[in-house]
Amino acid sequence: MSETPDYHFSTRAIRAGQDFDPSTGSVVPPVYLTSTFVQDGIGGFRGGYEYARGGNPTRDSLQELLASLEGGAAAFSFASGLAAEDTLLRSILKPGDHIVMGNDVYGGTHRLVSRVFVPWGVSISTVEMGDLEMVRHAIRPDATKILWVETPSNPLMKITDIEALAALGHEFGATVVVDNTFASPYLQRPLELGADVVVHSTTKYLGGHSDVLGGAIVLNDPELIEKVGFLQFGVGAVSGPMDAWLTVRGIKTLAVRMDKHSANAAAIADRLVGHPKLERVFYPGLPDHPGHDLAARQMKSFGGMISVAVAGGAAAAKRFAESTVLFQLAESLGGVESLIGYPSEMTHASVKGTALEVPENIVRLSVGIEDVDDLIADLLGALDRL
Ligand SMILES: *Cc1c(COP(=O)(O)O)cnc(C)c1O
Repeated sequence: MSETPDYHFSTRAIRAGQDFDPSTGSVVPPVYLTSTFVQDGIGGFRGGYEYARGGNPTRDSLQELLASLEGGAAAFSFASGLAAEDTLLRSILKPGDHIVMGNDVYGGTHRLVSRVFVPWGVSISTVEMGDLEMVRHAIRPDATKILWVETPSNPLMKITDIEALAALGHEFGATVVVDNTFASPYLQRPLELGADVVVHSTTKYLGGHSDVLGGAIVLNDPELIEKVGFLQFGVGAVSGPMDAWLTVRGIKTLAVRMDKHSANAAAIADRLVGHPKLERVFYPGLPDHPGHDLAARQMKSFGGMISVAVAGGAAAAKRFAESTVLFQLAESLGGVESLIGYPSEMTHASVKGTALEVPENIVRLSVGIEDVDDLIADLLGALDRL
């Protein structure tokens, strides 16, 4: 669909990379479950396909779709979000380089850098990314190659000004990477705001149904596109065809799902504010959230993630997380079903005891698209029982 790039988002979500199968008319492009492709004479590749680590039409369809939705020149998909991040980091960093990263990035991202790249000779500074003076202070001219931010951040929903961060990074020639997993391209498009690279765990909102792992990199710079493409092939952490197909299937409903996730989360956040069993509700849609105005500017709406600080400390927070019914206790987020998590010992267990540790009374909600009254009743019931 590259000849019709001006369709609106919801149309592209359904049509970009999704041309019907020309040989049968099948409306849904088939899943190419094949590892290799017959050649018409040596080097005679049909459609350029040779071997599936290098390229598979089902993966291409997902990649074309992701590039279209994020407004990037190219997208690459991987077996998981962390596989995508690893490939991106290898494409940019070499020993001696330095990365500045949010002090509340996804625990697995911090673990990847600190446990895999640091022993390799890369160094890392973790800072409050919303505070641009602190970021500037952390940058080491010549050594800092990457600024890495999540906005909204996980789990405290801090908001960073992507446009301003990109401008700062570019002053120093650093590549500005936004992990756009929490917002999805429907709510926020970092490349349009000046970021260089978007990474995703497509496991979350893009896939949207908690049934497939995946990751992606979307970017514009031709030189970096070349490097990432080479490492996707050369290292081989690619998404398989069935995973790519499931992710495409999920993305078709991204726009309607995100609208409903956001509406449900906004209603829940409103209802929870001021609850006697809670110290605080973290949701960028609340007018007193410190990043509210900024989020209103750079996001279409405020998304489906909420965190709460429970008044009774760690014990009460754990009991709350273990006593809801519709909100099921599980890692992950972004699926149609609501999930509840205790970051300190679940998603962020790998940063416990470090400066990145999450307070022990925080509970995180991934608000699904069920009936909002049922969700509110579930949460209020569990809080009552504390
Ligand atoms: C889950 C997640 C990741 C890692 O993705 P996987 O698909 O689990 O490898 C990275 N960043 C964020 C914000 C995430 O939520």
